[in-house]
Amino acid sequence: MKALVYNGPGEKDWVEKDKPEIEKPTDVIVKVTKTTICGTDLHILKGDVPAVTPGRTLGHEGVGVVEAVGPAVQNFKPGDPVLISCVTSCGKCANCKRQLYAHCADGGWILGHLIDGTQAEYVRIPHGDNSLYPIPEGADEEALVMLSDIMPTGLEIGVQYGKVKPGDTIAIIGAGPVGMSVLLTAQFYSPGRIVMIDMDPARLELARQFGATDTIQVGTDDPVENIMAMTDGVGVDVAIEAVGVPATFDICQKIISAGGNIANVGVHGTPVELHIEELWIKNINISMGLVSTNTTPMLLKTLNSGKVNPAKLVTHRFKLDKILDAYEVFGNAAREKAMKIILNA
Ligand code: NAD
Ligand code: ZN
Repeated sequence: MKALVYNGPGEKDWVEKDKPEIEKPTDVIVKVTKTTICGTDLHILKGDVPAVTPGRTLGHEGVGVVEAVGPAVQNFKPGDPVLISCVTSCGKCANCKRQLYAHCADGGWILGHLIDGTQAEYVRIPHGDNSLYPIPEGADEEALVMLSDIMPTGLEIGVQYGKVKPGDTIAIIGAGPVGMSVLLTAQFYSPGRIVMIDMDPARLELARQFGATDTIQVGTDDPVENIMAMTDGVGVDVAIEAVGVPATFDICQKIISAGGNIANVGVHGTPVELHIEELWIKNINISMGLVSTNTTPMLLKTLNSGKVNPAKLVTHRFKLDKILDAYEVFGNAAREKAMKIILNA
């Protein structure tokens, strides 16, 4: 089969590779029908994630059709259409029982990191029963791909950890696919005002179409001054960081109101400065972490009800065997006005 393989920092290739096989009784082999590229894949390609070693097939989002199941798999059979979670987990250990699937004692692997991923014709999913979801009849498969990672990430690590409540003023920093997923899922909780902050005017325009009430363009406007002016000097109830650089975490510390919540979603490659002397006196809560995708069943139901349409995030489509061209576009997202790219088998 063909797969997109990481060959060390800056190097990738679309190569012939052995088709995955059932290795453990709980494995499922899925024929990938749609996958995509995530900002995290670009981090890996830069060499920012040393745990990923050369030869690894990248990708952790997708939908497909079950090709084969191990003897212990109970929920799926060949031919079943499935949504793939970016995290594989046993569902039975102490951490899985607390729905912390990313911390599973027998896995918790993100696909395309320590095990091969979805940017391939076939993928092996360990613990298939707990790591795949049946696709509801008639569901939009492009929307479903957004439920592998980015929508649960926005909801769990941004909105739920940030404890967004009706009427709140919230700020989201970073209008990439993850920040946009925060924007879409925050609206389940009816915040009064949603301010999106980014440096890219096209992404801010899109954010307004997706429900942001206000936008601030970094580089043109000062986010701290603007937020303070908007809130009569009080600050926001919830600040959600969806970039992963010290400067944006610093903005969160400056715009948060007394008693507010800072939810850090971005993956930071370098330490950030924590102003505990200012945060303590303001009774600030700070949260962060890796997505568990425990909200996927809830998001599937919400998708069915028509309350949210994450397919709006898809801007480009390519055939899977043109994935190198897709990486070229995604790597120049601002110039190409790219958000999510669907790769069709
Ligand atoms: P992205 O790179 O597509 O988007 C980031 C956005 O931030 C861009 O629109 C960019 O213009 C903007 N930006 C960059 N620097 C800025 C600055 N100084 N001020 C304001 N805006 C700035 O990334 P993404 O795919 O949306 O992911 C966002 C972050 O979430 C990444 O760090 C990613 O690794 C992380 N992530 C975390 C989890 C988790 O489990 N917590 C899961 C998935 C992704
Ligand atoms: Zn487990």
